Amino acid sequence: MSLLDPKELEQLIPAESNSFPSPIPTQFVSSDEFLPGPQTENQMRVEARMKALGSALAKHQGLSRRRFFKSAAGMAAAFVAMNDVYGPLFNVSRAEAATPDMANERARSLADQFIMDMHTHFLRDDTRLEGFVRSREAVGKAGWNPALSNKPQTIDDLKFANYFKEIYFDSDTKVALISGSGSEEPRDWFLTNEMKLDARTKVNRLTGSKRMFSHAIFMPGMPGWMDKVDHDIAVLKPDSFKGYTVGDNTNKHLARHPWRLDDEKLLYPFYEKLVKAGLSNVCVHKGLFPPETAAKFGNLLPYADVRDVGKAAKDWPQLNFIVYHSGFRYTGGAYKVGMEQFDKTGRIDWVTDLAEIPEKFGVKNVYGDLGQIFAQSTVAEPRLCAAMMGQLVKGLGVDHVVWGTDAVWTGAPQWQIEALRRLEIPEDMQKKYGYAPLGAATGKVKQMIFGENSARLYKYDARQRAELATDKIALARSDYERDGPGRTNMRYGYVVKPTA
Ligand SMILES: [Zn+2]
Repeated sequence: MSLLDPKELEQLIPAESNSFPSPIPTQFVSSDEFLPGPQTENQMRVEARMKALGSALAKHQGLSRRRFFKSAAGMAAAFVAMNDVYGPLFNVSRAEAATPDMANERARSLADQFIMDMHTHFLRDDTRLEGFVRSREAVGKAGWNPALSNKPQTIDDLKFANYFKEIYFDSDTKVALISGSGSEEPRDWFLTNEMKLDARTKVNRLTGSKRMFSHAIFMPGMPGWMDKVDHDIAVLKPDSFKGYTVGDNTNKHLARHPWRLDDEKLLYPFYEKLVKAGLSNVCVHKGLFPPETAAKFGNLLPYADVRDVGKAAKDWPQLNFIVYHSGFRYTGGAYKVGMEQFDKTGRIDWVTDLAEIPEKFGVKNVYGDLGQIFAQSTVAEPRLCAAMMGQLVKGLGVDHVVWGTDAVWTGAPQWQIEALRRLEIPEDMQKKYGYAPLGAATGKVKQMIFGENSARLYKYDARQRAELATDKIALARSDYERDGPGRTNMRYGYVVKPTA
């Protein structure tokens, strides 16, 4: 952590002095305001189960429950509790929860897994998007992410220093892409494109390796947007561009420039520029548009789904269309509608629609990013999560599903990583719908989703990957593992200081 400057370090304190009531969230957040929805009956059962299990195992291991839940065995216990309530979706054994050596050995053996998280965020220093702070606070209070509990969240938690810590130290993430979101209101861009590119420069310079990639946001239809694209390509050299078809996702009430990917007049000249510049990845935010949002912003609904992806992909085979959140619509409490829809019809808006595009349009260049689709459905309804993973892998191909977490809106992404490592599609579901199993944590399917697919998309080569083993972060992490105050898993190295 000595990579950070003193002012940045000052914001962080060792995790030992804080408390973590449970290692995985027992509640989920809603899509827009990022406030937790009410805890469901099942989530209450998970929490109760986790507490009971935690108390018993902690006592047995001579630890406080808090300390236990900070350990790798505690993480395992949380997934045991999930299985007790939802059925055996997560690959975990009671022995692992009861045997610290076994759990630590597993965590250690997976710590070097190659994970590229191409969907992460932090906010600019002068942001006024306080909503995201209240989100972390609410999430903490609800026990959604234990690292956020029992301390007030500040806007600093969403800024660079904490981002750096939560991504590279509190999780097994190896490489991240800093994303963002634009707005009609210039001050409400999460980060300007310049700031994202500065972050990329800063991180890669600090670490002496290629740890960070960066988006530039494009906003079709906004005055001067193509000139800005030219400028960004020439001066900032982003790794890829990202757009929001609803126009302004942050301030939906201001959105005056929604657009479609297959708009030949508006978008095709932009694609031409990308091809010329050698940029082959077009990232696009889709979904996160539950019925209540649709009721409020019906004008944007036709732009939120994936109906415009197929034709654009067909017309531009030389580009890759990476659909963020995989078009998953039912965030927050709406997951129930999604589960019901799946149980009744075998479909889930608009994930199924996305998964069908390759066959319908005969295209091979459509990808699904996981983002909130995975985070929210894991916590709310792991069966729904399993179904969506099955559909995406089946429809898009195992080489077309890519890891993303939307961190750090709700804290460090390690529990999401652990969830995918352990998740399996239930056998009855595999049989009924023809889904292939996801397999072991380091099996082919998960390796591809975690990192290999994005490595291919972004041409992350063997030399760059080799550097990760010896760069500044690798060194700092191994020091901390060796000298850290009794740390037994790799989740929480530091936490952000509560401000007085
Ligand atoms: Zn995002």
